[in-house]
Amino acid sequence: MDTTKLSKFYKKSHEEKISALFEAGVISDEDKQTLLSNNLDLNLETGSNMIENHLGNYPLPLGVAMNFVIDGTNKVIPMAIEEPSVIAAASFAAKIISTGGGFSTNVPDRQVIGQVTLKHVGNMAEAREIVLNAKQAILDRANEAHPSIVKRGGGARDLTVRILEETDQTGFPAFLSVHLHIDTKEAMGANIINTMMEGIAPYIEELTGGTALLRILSNYATESLATSQCVIPAHALKTGKYTGEEVRDRIIEATQVATIDPYRAVTHNKGIMNGVDAVVVATGNDWRAVEASVHAYASRSGQYRSLTTWGKSEQGDLVGSLTLPLPIGTVGGAISIHPAAQLSHTILGHPNVNELAGILASVGLAQNFAAVRALVTDGIQKGHMGLHARSLAISAGAKGEQVQKVADLLKQAPHMNLDAARSILRNL
Ligand code: NDP
Repeated sequence: MDTTKLSKFYKKSHEEKISALFEAGVISDEDKQTLLSNNLDLNLETGSNMIENHLGNYPLPLGVAMNFVIDGTNKVIPMAIEEPSVIAAASFAAKIISTGGGFSTNVPDRQVIGQVTLKHVGNMAEAREIVLNAKQAILDRANEAHPSIVKRGGGARDLTVRILEETDQTGFPAFLSVHLHIDTKEAMGANIINTMMEGIAPYIEELTGGTALLRILSNYATESLATSQCVIPAHALKTGKYTGEEVRDRIIEATQVATIDPYRAVTHNKGIMNGVDAVVVATGNDWRAVEASVHAYASRSGQYRSLTTWGKSEQGDLVGSLTLPLPIGTVGGAISIHPAAQLSHTILGHPNVNELAGILASVGLAQNFAAVRALVTDGIQKGHMGLHARSLAISAGAKGEQVQKVADLLKQAPHMNLDAARSILRNL
């Protein structure tokens, strides 16, 4: 990628941005023509094949975040999001983080968990032993239920059994949950796993004498973890009246608050998901699966806590880390169908699923850094309201050049709201 073509990207016109991406080698000539003709929409036929009772599309803006250096490679990050300032914040954070060498990721080989949960199992401990002893036969049956994933080098790898019993005397009966740990290669794997779970359930019923109640993947992707880390020199953090060391320490303290206070942690993690969700949506992945998984992971200690950690190195640098469970894929679902998802994978350089997971964790870490840095220095509104002013100007009816004019005047107005925007527009 020729990053020189991308400098001052945000200052370029729409056409110049698209040409710059082409000249930098990020997109093909064909992608450039598609973007120039604003032709990324789903056609009616594809839409009706994706969902039921299809009426039309619900477009979200698709943009790109800049300045990301992930594992030594420059990346342009596609983001589909309606909220102003997320892309600007990610790009700004990535630029500061690049002064310390960018992001380094660690994504161990991933597996996805499927569950067969049984009721009416007589002797739980005995049933557990019987299932464990039949492990290989169960794995073989699971693989026979979905042979194509085995041909691709994946398949069921391991089996564990959990007895689900409340300890607080709720009066609920106990359930037996058989977990399969499955390598789904490049796929998120929901359909693969659901097929496997339905395939093995009768055999497990036979083994345990129980009745299968549920046969589905678990979205709690504790075996699909991705970690991204960064080291930011303190001098790169200096802003306004704050020294770099002060900003560093305030970011660390703010993260401590989000670690002990769920009220703050939820907002802290929402900021992380601003970036993660935007890339998950852009790449055609299932954002409900990712959201469910991530928030469960944030509660793994028994209390909902910050997903990021920020600390100080011996050299006085700010050191950040984010680990996320990511039930994602690079094939299947909407990925191979949606034209904008395909373009997003092209923009990212067609990463494999582990690389994509590392990219998502890096974007989340950048987004968190940007939000917390702003909060502990200028406050969040300064950056936010600039872009919000443009949205208000458009809502008030401003068109073309009027939008910036109204937004600029609105920023100086005593109250930034729709009434003020309308009145400024009338005066113009
Ligand atoms: P798909 O079934 O759409 O795609 C997976 C298939 O892609 C594989 O079975 C395989 O089929 C093919 N494939 C091609 N190349 C590869 C490769 N390199 N690695 C792996 N597979 C490959 O998707 P998933 O099974 O991933 O399921 C995801 C979808 O399921 C999403 O749309 C999600 O929204 C939905 N879903 C989610 C649920 C949840 O999260 N709880 C529940 C139910 C559905 P083959 O080998 O036969 O060519």
